[in-house]
Amino acid sequence: MKAKIVLLPGDGIGPEVVAVALSLLELVANNFGHQFTMEEHLIGGCAIDAVQTPLPKKTLSACLEADAVLLGAVGGPKWDDPRAKVRPEQGLLGLRKGMALFANLRPIQPHPDVLSASPLKAEKLKGVDFVVVRELTGGIYFGEPSKRHQVNGQTQALDTMIYNQYEIERVAHLAFKLAQTRGNKLTSVDKSNVLESSRLWRETVTKVALVYPDVDFDNLLVDAAAMHLLTRPASFDVILTANLFGDILTDEASILTGSLGNLPSASLGDNMNTSGKPRGVFEPIHGSAPDIAGKGIANPVGAILSAALLLRHSLGLEEEANAIENVINQTLAAGYRTADIAKPGQDPLKTDALRKIIESQFIKTNAPIT
Ligand code: NAD
Repeated sequence: MKAKIVLLPGDGIGPEVVAVALSLLELVANNFGHQFTMEEHLIGGCAIDAVQTPLPKKTLSACLEADAVLLGAVGGPKWDDPRAKVRPEQGLLGLRKGMALFANLRPIQPHPDVLSASPLKAEKLKGVDFVVVRELTGGIYFGEPSKRHQVNGQTQALDTMIYNQYEIERVAHLAFKLAQTRGNKLTSVDKSNVLESSRLWRETVTKVALVYPDVDFDNLLVDAAAMHLLTRPASFDVILTANLFGDILTDEASILTGSLGNLPSASLGDNMNTSGKPRGVFEPIHGSAPDIAGKGIANPVGAILSAALLLRHSLGLEEEANAIENVINQTLAAGYRTADIAKPGQDPLKTDALRKIIESQFIKTNAPIT
């Protein structure tokens, strides 16, 4: 197949991990007989430096014309001045809004050979395999007003948590349909004992649940969910939640897999590409990791698995997505690790060394189509 993929490496370790994911996509194209056209654009801090805006028009229009987008990460101390009018994260939020990506899927499945990298006991991690569906274009990250002002001589800051019924319905339908392809179980997470927007969330999701009687459905408050993610993580199948709660819970859930560096994500909406599939943005869930940027030690697994999700969701290439996931499983099972998930006393691999091992494993197990 022919496909156009936009690459947005971004800042910090973003370019380091996207380079590895790109090399896997090129191997897929070569060995499975596809033609992928890659186009690189600016987003985040590097875009602010180059053109004074975190989301140049050229970047958004290229993404809207592409079949899929692979993103690294944005942000870093250089652009962290709280008084700054432009911030790298505005690039991400603008991209999500501009591409109408209302659902962010974050699969959490600890690799059996990396259980020791998690602070949780191995027996708690047995059978953990769930997906968090985070609403991505609503809630407190987008609500207006969001500002500071003076009240009685004091500085007051406010953000607004808004949800419209249709925003909850569309992401709920997507999550229930996803549950039907997995374990037929969905847990909706909210804070309906306190927040009005959460009461609408619960009411709406509970109504949508009636359309899917085959899916075992329950509600949890977000504070209890934070606890249950650690005490009974294997009991979840699909977790559906709002933008803010999903952001926090998935960083918490990442420790089940040993490192933030292992986790991929897919952001999807209703906007279809030339193959009739969702035009998605795929990115590891981690940030730009300024503490390790430039050292060549970042874990590229989350970015590589994001490339696999891109092949599956935006290009419909299931076999090719499985090929990448299998190679990652084999590589981790064979004990190859970057520093964040290395075993005690193990000499960790640098990013580039791991890339070479993954590439040669891929070539060994996926001979080119002749
Ligand atoms: P972070 O995810 O960048 O890093 C948290 C910790 O995890 C760090 O110790 C880091 O070294 C480690 N880590 C993250 N990814 C790793 C990887 N692939 N391999 C090995 N270790 C890894 O979060 P942070 O430090 O809170 O934020 C740093 C910057 O990233 C901030 O500017 C923040 O706004 C931005 N950020 C961006 C995104 C995004 O682009 N989607 C997401 C979160 C944070």
